[in-house]
Amino acid sequence: MDRRYPILCLVALAACSKGEATPSNTTAAGASGAAGAARDSSAGNVAVAPAPAAAPNQAGRIPVLEYHQIVGDKNTLYTRTAASFKADLEEAYKRGYRPISIAQMLDKNFSDVPAGMSPVVFVFDDASPSQFRYVEQNGKLEIDPATAIGIWLDFAKSHPGWKNRGTFCMLNGGAAGHNFFGDNPKYEGQKKEWRFQKVKWLADQGFELCDHTLWHMMLNKYPDAAVQEQIARNQMGIDSAVPGYKVRTIALPYGLWPKNRPLAWHGSWTDPKTGQTHTYNFEAVLEVTGGPARSPYDKEFDAHSIPRIEAIGDDIRKQLIKLDTTKTRFVVGAK
Ligand SMILES: [Zn+2]
Repeated sequence: MDRRYPILCLVALAACSKGEATPSNTTAAGASGAAGAARDSSAGNVAVAPAPAAAPNQAGRIPVLEYHQIVGDKNTLYTRTAASFKADLEEAYKRGYRPISIAQMLDKNFSDVPAGMSPVVFVFDDASPSQFRYVEQNGKLEIDPATAIGIWLDFAKSHPGWKNRGTFCMLNGGAAGHNFFGDNPKYEGQKKEWRFQKVKWLADQGFELCDHTLWHMMLNKYPDAAVQEQIARNQMGIDSAVPGYKVRTIALPYGLWPKNRPLAWHGSWTDPKTGQTHTYNFEAVLEVTGGPARSPYDKEFDAHSIPRIEAIGDDIRKQLIKLDTTKTRFVVGAK
């Protein structure tokens, strides 16, 4: 039964604007500019990044960024240009952020973030070829430098301390090649037999593998059994690519919860062919919107509802600026 549904993330649109239209709060330039003799005409134009060596703040917020496709020459709701993605990486880096995964956040493992710096989580949804595409060069597979992964690897070469950490929330039965980064040459030349190799490569590199259902089901619209089948079978797909891999995170398609909410993180499905029961047990559930996430040290941190910041327009930069001006960002202490 090959039920394929188009990826329509538009439902999330209504929720997107909520709480995102924050002013850029570009430092206190307004006040000092008025007192001084107009010494900086660019004040208010670009926010100045504070020195990364900030005081530790383990109760601060952690930005969890959400990406879909990296394509085109104009940003849209669910696509971001390669140039904008690179600019996001630069922005995070220069502000003293270093990447971790959701799994590391759950474990309060900030060992990849030097003291005085801050963690950021890059999450990539929907497993499109634009995130991870191979090109064949003389019979050898190379990662396309124009994809999210290609750009990431290139960025890391010139930015010390930028590790392969982040979270890929994947489908393995989505339409239009949204199946472990491409299942048909019709979609950006990607071959079905490359899928598991890509997923395994990500895990081997230190990226986290995350469930996003089989074909992007609107979980609120289906009975409990269908919800569990979607989630469990996608986890089985990940297990086929990386045997024994413990999936700890799920991202809700469209940010929609199943009617029976706990089924988002815990449930099971019995394969009628084999009679075998497959269980899933996730620790983290990712929402679609909501701003910077609470620290895992915060008493109100709820791993079953981790908000994210969508890569839309200038929202990421605005949120990073706000975290600095409000001094609410998580800062790693001395180790
Ligand atoms: Zn999605």
